[in-house]
Amino acid sequence: MKTSPDSWRYQVGIQNEWQNLEQNGGVWRHTGDARTPHVVLRSGLHSNGFIDTLQYLSVVSNLTRAADSQVAELLKVLDLPARVDWVVGSPMAGIPFATAVGIRLNAKHVGFTEKKGNTDLVCRFDMQPGARVLHIEEMSTTGGTPQRSINAVLAKNPDAQILPYVGAFLTRCSRKVPDLTSAEFVPVIDLTTLDVSFGQWRAAECPLCAMGSKVLTNPKKVWWSLLKNMHNPGSPIPDAEYAP
Ligand SMILES: [Zn+2]
Repeated sequence: MKTSPDSWRYQVGIQNEWQNLEQNGGVWRHTGDARTPHVVLRSGLHSNGFIDTLQYLSVVSNLTRAADSQVAELLKVLDLPARVDWVVGSPMAGIPFATAVGIRLNAKHVGFTEKKGNTDLVCRFDMQPGARVLHIEEMSTTGGTPQRSINAVLAKNPDAQILPYVGAFLTRCSRKVPDLTSAEFVPVIDLTTLDVSFGQWRAAECPLCAMGSKVLTNPKKVWWSLLKNMHNPGSPIPDAEYAP
């Protein structure tokens, strides 16, 4: 049980960020109505919830507030003054957020890694030996992407100094995860701390499939129709793609 004033403020802060995200169309939940489809996650599991920070962080007032909150969290762990030479975001949604955070941290450079094939990342920036590099993510579930991004920076710049923290607007995992070996997360919204979780099931065990709900495979592409459908379960979702 966290009872110190700082922890309390932290809880209130992330509650507010989470409520802002929910109230501004960043969170979809299945209604329990069989006419409402449910979603398949990148992991292949079926779920009754989905978070899309992309649209939310495209609103500049949301992006700037989120970046302010991220900097406040980072300054609790970084040495002051926080000398950061590079702030790096991973593609694609992480890049504007990392840039906004980098400007606030007064970093010397902001940069990004790029996709090469399906999962590989590469870095094209040359960094000076010893450069202090901080990674910022928009959302992470396992820590796999920021670790690949760190590896890409080190492959190009073996003498860079990777800071042992990765900032993230939203995490769905604990701060230390096996897939992120070089750092720990410093999240703005930490769903495990907020005790927010969604169901995840293999298709054969999915209760929503069992009740006759269809499986939507492209939730991000039909996001606003999907949100409308959440409030009005009969409403159409044009361009929806369903699993056979
Ligand atoms: Zn299902």
